[in-house]
Amino acid sequence: MSRSAELGTQHNPLRVAIIGSGPSGFYAAEALLKSAPAVSVDMFERLPAPFGLVRNGVAPDHPKLKEAIFVYAKIAEHPQFSFFGNATIGHDVTVAELRASHHALVFCCGAETDRKLDIPGEELPGSHTATEFVGWYNGHPDYRNREFDLSSKVAVVIGQGNVAVDVCRILSKTIDELKHTDIAQHALDALADSKIREIHMIGRRGPAQAKFTHVEIRELGELADCDPVVNPDDLKLNPESEAELADKRNRSPIKNMEILSTFANRPAPTKRKRCYLRFLASPVELQGSDRVERLVLARNHLEGEPFKQIARETGEKIVLDCGLVFRSIGYRGVPMLGLPFDERRGVFSNRDGRVTEPDGSALPGLYCAGWIKRGPSGIIGTNRADSVATVKALLSDVERKSIDTTARPGADIIYPMLKARSVRVFGYPDWLKIDAAEIERGAPLGKPREKFTLIEEMLVALKMNRRFVDR
Ligand code: NAP
Repeated sequence: MSRSAELGTQHNPLRVAIIGSGPSGFYAAEALLKSAPAVSVDMFERLPAPFGLVRNGVAPDHPKLKEAIFVYAKIAEHPQFSFFGNATIGHDVTVAELRASHHALVFCCGAETDRKLDIPGEELPGSHTATEFVGWYNGHPDYRNREFDLSSKVAVVIGQGNVAVDVCRILSKTIDELKHTDIAQHALDALADSKIREIHMIGRRGPAQAKFTHVEIRELGELADCDPVVNPDDLKLNPESEAELADKRNRSPIKNMEILSTFANRPAPTKRKRCYLRFLASPVELQGSDRVERLVLARNHLEGEPFKQIARETGEKIVLDCGLVFRSIGYRGVPMLGLPFDERRGVFSNRDGRVTEPDGSALPGLYCAGWIKRGPSGIIGTNRADSVATVKALLSDVERKSIDTTARPGADIIYPMLKARSVRVFGYPDWLKIDAAEIERGAPLGKPREKFTLIEEMLVALKMNRRFVDR
């Protein structure tokens, strides 16, 4: 075989490494495997189990959203697809090594860290990121050992995106509402003892600017033992917000306002718990002697033209006593050695998915898709079009021969490398066995699955005593 044969042929298949196995990773794999050239896709994932945010981020009581996994499982069956779980690119294998083994790399590694509030007291015990809590109740291996003190009466969630709504809902639901979901058992047990009765979700802007979507917010009005509470005065809008809502394309905020109005018009709350939706307030300080005892908020008003309104402090302060705080103000991507990073946006520097140098020139063979490309926005399905666009750019570079066409070994060289470095690689067949074992252990509890949260547990499930899992 000529080492520089036409790329994308049977003799010289286009070898692509995808880093990350969440939605954008699987949609990139799908687009590649459906494309015309002969392609081989090797997907690398830091965790042993695939599916990223669908497994570890989507709320356990939203099983419909997890059905995307069925689509990903079909993609994984493709004969030209291989999965390498528990292999961290940038640690177990370098980006340079992967560039030598594959023609192209598509980074689909999401936004793995949180934005910071940068206020005094942010790191006090009792103040957590939503990421930690979401990871904990979803059995994410990194967060399984986190502890949340649920013994106080008042919890605060800062931010008004859909993650904040998820956190509020999990804190608000009864155990009966959660026990038949795939919530991690350690979280269910802890939540069973929760003393939290008031949950305050705080938005820095007004109700017309809240980022949550109507389907999600509506659910807060349908809980067994928690009433949503909205102060009708908070729904009085300035002319700029009225103008935003007059734009019929602004669908979700219009529906949000309808739902918030029904909350505001409900009779006095009678249920055991209350979820307060509060607007126009920014956190300025978390206070407490050795843990969070209160949150100081600044009252805001809005300034700016419609759709560009920002929160400005009025000078008035509000003090809210609370024992637990979750900061849910959005995510950020994490830089990786060898890849230019856009610090302002928290994404890999890129143009249409092509990773770029600071001068704007594309780095040959390096691509990105999903949240590490565009930032943490959109729903699961948004990532399909995003990944398709990146793959289109990649294939056009193949066509234009701006990618080195020399034949590459792909994972045939990476797998032995991982083995030599004592990395326990989990292949897709291993995942299928783990998946079956999780489903089996969930059944007696009436749960769709009980996740394994430790590699050791997964290895036991695979009935393995050796270090490596063969492909
Ligand atoms: P998000 O939608 O961007 O919401 C972030 C929230 O934090 C906004 O309310 C934002 O207010 C606020 N915020 C940011 N900086 C702040 C600061 N310094 N002080 C106070 N508040 C601040 O982020 P997310 O909730 O993490 O969600 C990420 C993505 O995942 C979104 O696209 C979301 O729709 C999606 N998601 C979807 C679902 C679902 O479909 N069920 C579930 C979970 C997540 P401003 O608007 O003023 O910036």
